[in-house]
Amino acid sequence: MKDILDLTKKELADTLGSYGEKPYRAKQIFTWLHQRRVTSFDQMTDISKTLRSKLAEEYVIGACRADKVQISKLDGTRKYLYRLEDGSFIEGVFMRYRDWNTACISSQVGCAMGCRFCASTINGCERDLSAGEMAEQIYAMEDDTGEAVSNVVIMGSGEPLLNYANLMRFIDIISDGDGKGISKRNITVSTCGIVPAIYKLADEGGDEEHMQINLALSLHAPTDEKRRKLMPIAEKYTLSELTEAMKHYYDRTHRRLTFEYALVSGENDTAQDAEELAKLLRNMGPAGSSALVNLIPVNPVKESGMGRPTREACEAFKNKLENFGINGSIRRELGSDIDGACGQLRMKSHA
Ligand code: SF4
Repeated sequence: MKDILDLTKKELADTLGSYGEKPYRAKQIFTWLHQRRVTSFDQMTDISKTLRSKLAEEYVIGACRADKVQISKLDGTRKYLYRLEDGSFIEGVFMRYRDWNTACISSQVGCAMGCRFCASTINGCERDLSAGEMAEQIYAMEDDTGEAVSNVVIMGSGEPLLNYANLMRFIDIISDGDGKGISKRNITVSTCGIVPAIYKLADEGGDEEHMQINLALSLHAPTDEKRRKLMPIAEKYTLSELTEAMKHYYDRTHRRLTFEYALVSGENDTAQDAEELAKLLRNMGPAGSSALVNLIPVNPVKESGMGRPTREACEAFKNKLENFGINGSIRRELGSDIDGACGQLRMKSHA
């Protein structure tokens, strides 16, 4: 059976059209699914019984089931381990900020990219997530907390740009005003740097309507040599190719670029690293301002043997960047008392 939550409103309209139904039915059913969040077709009371039965013959309404939830006593961050229909596990994180809530969601089961500091990649990539499975992670968080999510980061397990078609479908669904209606400007896609896909994303919508989502690049090193030691993808694309692609994204969309930089003690956190990073990221934002560098003190992952720098070392790195005119922020360590690093909870469940 297919998951009806995988369908965009347009795809739903096409399906209903093939049943001989009027186009406005798509809007009604989409709202039942993505705004009112019904769990069965019978709850769609303004839809005829015949149509409800027909839909139920072909589709299910998918749902992510939380197998485990860890709640931070420090800040209320919730980390979810979800079990999918096929028995796969993925993780999602609900983060509470002062004025909004952010959902960090996964795009694949596991990840093939092999970044050394990441637990999600230890068993490789098992499969892509569907658009519905991405949305369901957010819906499950809202059901559990009773609070609305307004910002989404696709930064959990998986490389979203390698699941491109489903990612596009998910963004279409989650930003649709007849459903959840999250503004595209509040959606951030985080990539380890798949250069052709960055160009493709930049050119979505043609010359008329650019994709207004934010792009974050997992950079993690200021030179190709160092990056290759941390991230196998660096064997494929150089930093100069990557920064060109990111500039192109900025030129097309004018969305601010973010560069993620996991600080690993003794590997990429020296004053020279900061200087090289600042040089690399010069002119990556609007005139008079720079791109933003998110510094993430790495969560130690036993399997990778990587160490976390001290708070002072992180501050020194940030200050050095700022001396060169680059904005840096040390990521607020939400949920530091729970299994913070991406993929750790899932790994434990397999252990
Ligand atoms: S950091 Fe992201 S891209 Fe790299 S292995 Fe982990 S999930 Fe994959």
